[in-house]
Amino acid sequence: MSDYRIQGDTGEWEVVIGLEVHAQITTNAKLFSGAATAFGAEPNTQVSLVDAAMPGMLPVPNFECIRQAVRTGMAINAQINKWSRFDRKNYFYADLPQGYQISQLYHPIVGEGAIEIQLDDKNPDTKKTIGVERIHVEQDAGKLMHDQHPTMSYVDLNRSGVALMEIVSRPDMGSPAEAGAYLSKLRTILRFVGSCDGNMDQGSMRADVNVSVRKPGDELGTRTETKNVNSVRFVMAVVEQEARRQVALIEDGGTVVQETRLYDPDRNETRSMRSKEDAHDYRYFPDPDLLPIELDDAFLEECRASLPELPDAKRERYETALGLSAYNASVLTADVETARWFEVLLAETAARAKKPEADVAKQAANWLISELFGALNKLGAALETSPVSPAAGAELLALIADGTISGSIAKQVLEKMLETGDGAGVIVEREGLKQTSDTGAIEAAIDAILAANADKVEQYKGGKEALFGFFVGQTMKAMQGKANPGMVNELLKKKLS
Ligand code: ADP
Ligand code: MG
Repeated sequence: MSDYRIQGDTGEWEVVIGLEVHAQITTNAKLFSGAATAFGAEPNTQVSLVDAAMPGMLPVPNFECIRQAVRTGMAINAQINKWSRFDRKNYFYADLPQGYQISQLYHPIVGEGAIEIQLDDKNPDTKKTIGVERIHVEQDAGKLMHDQHPTMSYVDLNRSGVALMEIVSRPDMGSPAEAGAYLSKLRTILRFVGSCDGNMDQGSMRADVNVSVRKPGDELGTRTETKNVNSVRFVMAVVEQEARRQVALIEDGGTVVQETRLYDPDRNETRSMRSKEDAHDYRYFPDPDLLPIELDDAFLEECRASLPELPDAKRERYETALGLSAYNASVLTADVETARWFEVLLAETAARAKKPEADVAKQAANWLISELFGALNKLGAALETSPVSPAAGAELLALIADGTISGSIAKQVLEKMLETGDGAGVIVEREGLKQTSDTGAIEAAIDAILAANADKVEQYKGGKEALFGFFVGQTMKAMQGKANPGMVNELLKKKLS
C-alpha cells in the first residue's frame, strides 16, 4: 500500500491508478499486411491495400507480432493463452478506413502477469508488485492532420494496421511515483525483450491513465481515463492533477463521472473529451476473416528459449555474482543498451587483466557510471552514440590498473578520447601522460612542497593529520598528476615522520 495521500478539506484521500499501455510491436511489417512500419516516413507511403481497407482485401496475421506478444507475456511471468481470437471493434472515424479495429476483447493472447517495481534503488522495502491483467494484440489506426485552415483535414494511413500490444495493469498503483516507476520498468522490459523500442516521443509507447480517489478503506471510486499520455513525466503529472481535481470536485459536493480526458502539457491540466454516456457501442464480434490463433508447445518453447536475461535477473546477478552495489546494479540494468555496453566492457577488462570478471566488475562499473556517464552528460551525448567503445574503455582501465596512468590523468585521457576518437594508449604516449615512479623526481617535488609550507608541516606534526591529504594534493599538482600516488603517499609518510 502506498503512503501517498492527498490532503483535502475533509481529510486524507488515497489515489488509485491503473495504466493501459499501447506498445508498438517491433516488426518490419504490419499486423495483417506486408507494409513497412518505419517511423518518420512521408505520409501515406507505407500503406497496403489491406491497410487502406480496399474492398475484398483479406488480413493475414504476421506471426512475428504474435511471437513478440508471447515473449513479452513470458517476460512478465504471465499466463500464455494457447488459444486466442481476434474480434472486430466497430466504430466510425476518418482515420479508420475499415470501420472497425481488429483487436482481442474476449480471448487475449496473454492473461494474468506481474511487474515488480522499486521506488528507491537502495531500499528493498520499496519493492511492490503491480498486477498485469492481460496483454492483447490489436491494430493501430491512422492519423488525422488538421491544417491551420479550419476546413482542411488530411489523413495519413502509415500507422493504419501497425501492430500494437495493449498491456493492461490492475489498479495497483497508489502514487505518481509508482505509476512512473511502473511505466519505466515496463519500457525497460520491452526493450530487453526487443518487442517494442519504447520510444515514447515517437509514439511507440503511450499510456491511458486511469485515476480514481477514495477515503482510506473505502471501495474503489469512479475513475477517469486520460488518453495517449506520451512520457513518464506526463503520466506522473496526470495522476497528480487528476487526483487533486477529483478530490476538489467531490469535496465541493460534485461527483466524478467516468469519462475520457485529454492532458494538456502546456497548462498541466486534464480536460474532458467525452463521457461514458455517449460512449460507443462497439458491437464487438469475432472477425470472420481470421482463424483463431492456436499455439503449440514447440512454438512456446522456442519463444521461451529466445528470451534474454531479463532486467530483474540481471540486476540480481550483478549484485550477487559481480558484487556491485544495489545502486550500480540498478543503473546498469535500467536500459538494455547500458547493460550490453557494460558487459562488453567487463569482458574486455577481465581479459586484459587476466582475472575473473567479478574481480574487475566494481572498477568497470564505477568508471562507466561516474566517469563515462559524467563526461557524456557534459557533451549532451548518449551511450549508444558514444565515440568511446567498450573496448576503448577497457584499454583505458587497463592503463589505470597497471599503474601507467593515475585516476586523475585518466579523466583527462577520457576527455581526449571523446574529443578525438583516439585510443587511450596513443593519447598517453602522444601527450606524455605516463605516470612516473621516478623516486628522485617525486622526492624533489615533496621537498619543495614541505619547504614552502613549513607552518602546515608544524601543524601536521602537532597532530593535525588531516593535512596529509593536502600534501598529497600539492605533490600531485607539482607533478602534473603524473606521480604514482602510492609512491607519493609512501615518500610523504617517510619525510613527515
Ligand atoms: P475497461 O475495459 O472499461 O476499459 P477495465 O476494468 O478493463 O475497464 O479497466 C481499464 C483500466 O482501468 C485498467 O488498467 C484498470 O486497472 C483501471 N481501473 C479500473 N478501475 C479503476 C479505478 N476504480 N481506479 C483506477 N483505475 C481503475
Ligand atoms: Mg479501456
